[in-house]
Amino acid sequence: MKYDYLIVGAGLYGAVFARQAMDAGKRVLVIDKRGHVAGNVYTEDVEGIHVHRYGAHIFHTNDRRVWDYITRFAEFNRFTNSPVANYKGELYSLPFNMYTFNRMWGVVTPEEAAAKIAGQRLEITGEPRNLEEQAIRLVGRDIYEKLIKGYTEKQWGRDCRELPAFIIKRLPVRLTFDNNYFNALYQGIPMGGYTRMVENLLHGAEVRLGCDYLADKPRWDALAARVVYTGPIDAYFDYRLGALQYRSVRFETELLDIPNFQGNAAVNYTDRETPWTRIIEHKWFEFGRDDRGSDIPVTVISREYSSEWKPGDEPYYPVNDQKNGALYQQYRALAERETNVIFGGRLGEYRYYDMDQVIAAALDRFEAE
Ligand code: UDP
Repeated sequence: MKYDYLIVGAGLYGAVFARQAMDAGKRVLVIDKRGHVAGNVYTEDVEGIHVHRYGAHIFHTNDRRVWDYITRFAEFNRFTNSPVANYKGELYSLPFNMYTFNRMWGVVTPEEAAAKIAGQRLEITGEPRNLEEQAIRLVGRDIYEKLIKGYTEKQWGRDCRELPAFIIKRLPVRLTFDNNYFNALYQGIPMGGYTRMVENLLHGAEVRLGCDYLADKPRWDALAARVVYTGPIDAYFDYRLGALQYRSVRFETELLDIPNFQGNAAVNYTDRETPWTRIIEHKWFEFGRDDRGSDIPVTVISREYSSEWKPGDEPYYPVNDQKNGALYQQYRALAERETNVIFGGRLGEYRYYDMDQVIAAALDRFEAE
């Protein structure tokens, strides 16, 4: 056979796996359905701005091994994610911290904030059973109502009482004046864009774009000893047990002839009525400057609309509730029997992975080979 590995999907998982395989002297062929590499971390250049075409990606990790690895392929800037929440024109700092509590309740000291939260969380006794209870337990009802409920229901298209508690555990709560959204030791945006970073990972690999693996699976399978499949696991099995649910996202992207639209990379619209969940102003991921360090006179914004995935859409987020978890386990059992195929990444493993977890998973998986 011509290749040791056929890698289906040129996103982060596929690219890291390909890099490791090549460095170990393996022959790889990477294919992707789309006309570009980098999967959903793809960035494209518009007037000197790296536009995150499939949604904002902010790299963050506590894993030293992952950080040391990925910084071989890109230099990272000092971007720190601190989104602003817009609730009907009131602006709040995220994640939940002293600035947020001051704006919400007029409290000034951490002690006052803690007392306010303690009073409101009493409402929930016992282990939180869903996202609503978890949120109130974490920060109380006021913040839940203004900053969590509407946003979460828009993003997931489900009632907060039907969503798992773990989703909200991603968000830190702090009694300090710290607007850093992530509790991560390392954070930043790859200078030059994610696409270049992935191109660097794939350096030396044979890459074929615009190739649909599932449309002609036997022909592709015949090319390699093993397959790394990073597409949706249910699609691989032709949805034979039924379709897993995903959330999809649609972007309305505009180039505006002004230098500054919202003064921040991300503004979340946390009320229920505004139809988009957030607006991303891409230039602020790189401090408004292009690759040569010049200020960019225009700006690109993307309004993000969340929707239930249907065939033909791009899947973005697995819906990790009980029903889908159980169905995934059945697909997982089928996958175990495909002894020559590795299922990897957010779609292949149906997991709400962050980028650093994807990298770690791909490194571990290749090591296990
Ligand atoms: N969230 C929220 N309000 C916000 C931002 C986030 O309630 O302003 C909740 C929401 O439930 C969301 C979760 O936190 O699903 C995780 O949000 P994050 O922005 O980390 O998710 P991403 O889409 O960036 O992966």
